[in-house]
Amino acid sequence: MRSTKIVATLGPASSEPAILERMFRAGVDVVRLNFSHGTHADHAARAELVREMSRKVGRPVGIMGDLQGPKIRVGKFVQHKIHLEPGAPFILDAHCELGDQSRVGLDYKELPGDVKPGDVLLLDDGRIVLDVVDVRGAEVHTVTRHGGTLSNNKGINRQGGGLTAPALTPKDITDIQLAAKLEVDFLAVSFPKSGADMYMAKELLRAAGGHALLIAKIERAEAIPALEDIMRACDGIMVARGDLAVEVGDAAVPALQKRMIRLARELNRLTIVATQMMESMISSPVPTRAEVSDVANAVLDGTDAVMLSAESASGQYPVEAIEAMGRVCTEAEKAMPVNLERDFLDRVFTRVDQTIAMGALFTAQHLKVKAIASFTESGSTPLWMSRLNCGVPIYALTSDPVAPYRCSLFRGVVPLPVLYLGHDRDELLALGEERLVSSGVVKNGDLIILTIGEPLGKSGGTNTLKIVKVGEHRQS
Ligand code: PGA
Ligand code: MN
Repeated sequence: MRSTKIVATLGPASSEPAILERMFRAGVDVVRLNFSHGTHADHAARAELVREMSRKVGRPVGIMGDLQGPKIRVGKFVQHKIHLEPGAPFILDAHCELGDQSRVGLDYKELPGDVKPGDVLLLDDGRIVLDVVDVRGAEVHTVTRHGGTLSNNKGINRQGGGLTAPALTPKDITDIQLAAKLEVDFLAVSFPKSGADMYMAKELLRAAGGHALLIAKIERAEAIPALEDIMRACDGIMVARGDLAVEVGDAAVPALQKRMIRLARELNRLTIVATQMMESMISSPVPTRAEVSDVANAVLDGTDAVMLSAESASGQYPVEAIEAMGRVCTEAEKAMPVNLERDFLDRVFTRVDQTIAMGALFTAQHLKVKAIASFTESGSTPLWMSRLNCGVPIYALTSDPVAPYRCSLFRGVVPLPVLYLGHDRDELLALGEERLVSSGVVKNGDLIILTIGEPLGKSGGTNTLKIVKVGEHRQS
């Protein structure tokens, strides 16, 4: 069984029902709708297909909407693209309509006010490098350091970060409405600089009636000193290595990834490691050795999920990429030491539900139980359980219609919907036990741990831990 979750971006390569079904069967846990591409109708059709497929395959697969955010881009060219030679002068001109060999327009008109001579601008994820030599009104004059082909709407970053486009664009605000309408389970916010940016997105989403968990994409240099503030304002982060590497330098990213995952786990927040994980599989049926190591190392860092971008959205091998990721994760997980005593050291648990969650992990390790099953309304108890590696599968038993989908991202947590409308604790415990047996995860004689809250149905009310030998109460 695999604990680490797989997020796959949907796109033209993964819109056919037959392909999507194969992706589901290959083990995808969450799909990403990338709002940077496609129309609202495209995303609505995909979301509907995903919900349908989830029912058909019998597994809750979550949906993540991903806002485009204030990515600063060049405008379009008369000929769609140009070629820049090293040493060539080039102007970024806020007033230019259609670009040519000498200049191009900007979607963010304030850019000339944000840059100064000596700045280094990185275009198209750093493939093209321009040195700013002068700023004249709406024009940023540069000299090409590294040339190449520059096509319509490519992104611009400044080395070291610090471009101040506002956090949410008008497009993001309409896309938040869409996210609420599609009832996505996760909303990823691009380029946040602070916790306040995340609160703003959350308020807009809640006002539109959305219930999604919020994920901050860490992809600006300014987000690094603000990590804790950002994490406290949301439910999880994405290590968005594409833009982040351009802003902070590629060599700084691996250590940052480890630091972010460690901090997120301490704060009970979720993590997704993203971008170029299986990049060569866009056109190859097998990953490179380096990609295998990258995915395995993200697992060893303790991430909840690893993500596919173009590999599953527009590549030739979306199903194979999921299979390869799955196999690498499962193998890497076997090499992870379980050391709960160390993880508990110096930690103080202040909440009853959190303490029950930790008690369940501790007990599971000492009694060698087969499974931990947590009755949950919101998913918060299994979330706590999944912040530490205990080596025992955690089942989230829930009659809430939304909780199974949000648990789809939690490392080591298997959502199991149970329908129960009564109020009798013992009846519910027995039902949960039966659900585990009928799903084939435990059998008579196995030791399991159950956690539950009394009275039933109160979110965040877990206060009871029970150790059960499966089948025993039925014999007595
Ligand atoms: P993107 O974000 O795929 O939306 O660009 C991820 C990243 O920058 O790594
Ligand atoms: Mn990005």
